[in-house]
Amino acid sequence: MSSTVNLVKLVEQGAADEVARVMQICNACRYCEGFCAVFPAMERRRTFSTGDAAYLANLCHHCGACYHACQYAPPHEFGVNVPQALATLREDSYIAYAWPGPLAGLFRRNGLVVVLVLMLGLALVTGAMLAMISPQLFWGAHIGEGAFYVLMPHYVMAGIPGFITAFSVVALIQGWRRYWRHTGARWGGFTALRGAVSALASLRHLGGEHTGKGEGCPGPDETNSRARQYYHHATFYGFMMCFAATSLATAYHYILGREAPYGYLEPPVLLGTVGGIILCIGTAGLFYEKQRMATAVKSVREYGMDYAFIAILFLVSFTGLVLLAVRETSFMGLTLAIHLGAVYAFFLIMPYSKFVHGLYRFAALLADEGEKQG
Ligand code: SF4
Ligand code: SF4
Repeated sequence: MSSTVNLVKLVEQGAADEVARVMQICNACRYCEGFCAVFPAMERRRTFSTGDAAYLANLCHHCGACYHACQYAPPHEFGVNVPQALATLREDSYIAYAWPGPLAGLFRRNGLVVVLVLMLGLALVTGAMLAMISPQLFWGAHIGEGAFYVLMPHYVMAGIPGFITAFSVVALIQGWRRYWRHTGARWGGFTALRGAVSALASLRHLGGEHTGKGEGCPGPDETNSRARQYYHHATFYGFMMCFAATSLATAYHYILGREAPYGYLEPPVLLGTVGGIILCIGTAGLFYEKQRMATAVKSVREYGMDYAFIAILFLVSFTGLVLLAVRETSFMGLTLAIHLGAVYAFFLIMPYSKFVHGLYRFAALLADEGEKQG
């Protein structure tokens, strides 16, 4: 069932060993088998290689329910803490599958790296603008189509993220391949794909639908709530709307020959505005929920990647909304530089941030659906 080929040396073998240890205990107990997809997947195994452990870690949606229900949790001598064991290995797995390998270390000091990359992005954009135009133009008010490109030509503004994104996409594909091979996942056909897409789009695990009650996940006070599901939804769909807005604006530019900024009621702006607001709400809510999470179930290692990723996503959407508000004033140059700096930093850090969680979680759901069909 599991991969025995250690394609990727996990950064901390101890984290995989701890997952294997608690899974052996859970496999004998099985009290939590109806809680989530992790326990049925565990029951399909008798031993747990590092690949199996990494697969289960990415299948866990970190609700904490099994910790609160566990009679073997600390201070019991077995010390079973499934959410913490899986969360720690999950974060290690992001490092282990990162490509190219030498850049994997960026995960370890993720919070600091994001801040540094963000500052680099800001300096790059502001410097490029000032080098190409005069301070008078930078601080001037520009109105109508093509106003943004007075400050920075379109080929530079679009070319920089295009180059960064191309690299990031290759890095993400390579990370996915490493994950898929190491966990020994099998392609389960289009039925499995449909099941995985449906689980991801509805986030039904976060909603607790698998328990038949749909009460969501337990908070630190152990009462259930669907807040994490709603905020994840807002973040995901807000991001997708912003992505659609950018794609539409690109079509306007190259197919219709029209230059940004567009009217407030035109589709690219409407999509971006609604998406940006939803993304702000989703990321702020995730930050709040993260704060509320019981300390006992958090990863033992603090890479800061959760907060750093949420912060940069919030910054991208918030500065985009501010730019919309001030785009016809003399603050447009400064706000555009800050927004582009945040956007460039986001794309640059994408393969080395919590963004990979979405990919590996989808891969785990896909493998799980395949396994269920035999
Ligand atoms: S988490 Fe605890 S109660 Fe749940 S299956 Fe494992 S050992 Fe049993
Ligand atoms: S924390 Fe939640 S999702 Fe993770 S193994 Fe426990 S019950 Fe399942």
